Amino acid sequence: MTARIIDGKKIAAGIREKLKQKIAALPSAPQLAIVLVGNDEPSLIYVRNKQKAAAQIGLPSQLHHLDENISEEELLKIIAQLNADSEINGIIVQLPLPKHLNTNRIINAISPLKDVDGFHPYNTGMLQNNEKPYFIAATPLGVMQLIRSVSPNLSGKNVVLIGASLIVGRPLATLLLNQECTVSITHAQTRKIKELTSKADILVAACGVAKLVKADWIKENAILIDVGINRENGKLCGDIDFEDVKEKALAITPVPGGVGPMTIAMLLSNTVDAYLLHHPGL
Ligand code: NAD
Repeated sequence: MTARIIDGKKIAAGIREKLKQKIAALPSAPQLAIVLVGNDEPSLIYVRNKQKAAAQIGLPSQLHHLDENISEEELLKIIAQLNADSEINGIIVQLPLPKHLNTNRIINAISPLKDVDGFHPYNTGMLQNNEKPYFIAATPLGVMQLIRSVSPNLSGKNVVLIGASLIVGRPLATLLLNQECTVSITHAQTRKIKELTSKADILVAACGVAKLVKADWIKENAILIDVGINRENGKLCGDIDFEDVKEKALAITPVPGGVGPMTIAMLLSNTVDAYLLHHPGL
């Protein structure tokens, strides 16, 4: 049987519609500040998509497009201004930053109360402690919703993650562990990776290697979530070889149209949450 397609585009559209209604009922619109340093081509596209999606639900965003040679001190000054600006509810710094900037130092400078990307150590630490952070990273949040759309009860599931990054693999592992999954995190140095992936009830690929996961990597009837965004011969593809696995998997997210739209929807949701956090009593 051919795998069910997990339609991230449709689920994300539903979330955005609910957010639009929620925003329309607020006394003012939540505001998002996006800091973009330099002209990294994919980053320009991601930022444009985020701004467009925000505008469509009535959420204004301001772009701070900065010179790629900006100094760390100048950038920290801009973040401090955004932290102090009561009109701004959410701040994101588009990654990757140019090499001369210390990413951790920049992220750590964002107020945890405005850190709608959920990357600040306060927020990641609270998640790790299984306490309530102000914000959880958008991609892992979106992935959790996609998994739940197929498998609402996660307790006891064997989950394997390919990729251990700070923005996807690690926070996702914590979210899944907090839902009583048994989680294995694999990475570029993992040995005999197929022995692990082929036992997974749920496999999440987030490594940035085009079509890495083939049919012999997966268990029969596995749920496959493809976070990867790669370009092959001018076409977008994921980290999972969709055509190769589709007859063996139970369900799979497409690329594009799977995790990507969910990431944006969850970022917008975090920004609305930030507004509510800054307006207690609403
Ligand atoms: P990253 O480069 O920070 O981390 C990649 C991880 O994959 C590392 O842990 C690395 O060890 C591991 N890895 C690399 N090659 C591997 C291999 N052959 N086998 C096993 N593990 C391997 O990347 P990231 O920022 O987490 O992004 C990963 C992918 O997800 C990229 O394609 C990125 O574009 C995509 N992404 C998509 C979204 C979205 O919204 N859809 C969001 C974030 C990232």
